[in-house]
Amino acid sequence: MMCKRCGSVPVVHDEALQRTLEDAARTAHFVVDGQETEIKGLCESCSGGG
Ligand SMILES: [Zn+2]
Repeated sequence: MMCKRCGSVPVVHDEALQRTLEDAARTAHFVVDGQETEIKGLCESCSGGG
């Protein structure tokens, strides 16, 4: 994830998401050679939450 406004990158360690992606790849008989998950948007402070 990366904030479009300030460029901050909140660190998210989501094992459930990681497993889901790996399982999906395995089901498709796809050999994963590196992984890049990119979600762009606004962080909490830039979206007015702070
Ligand atoms: Zn921001």
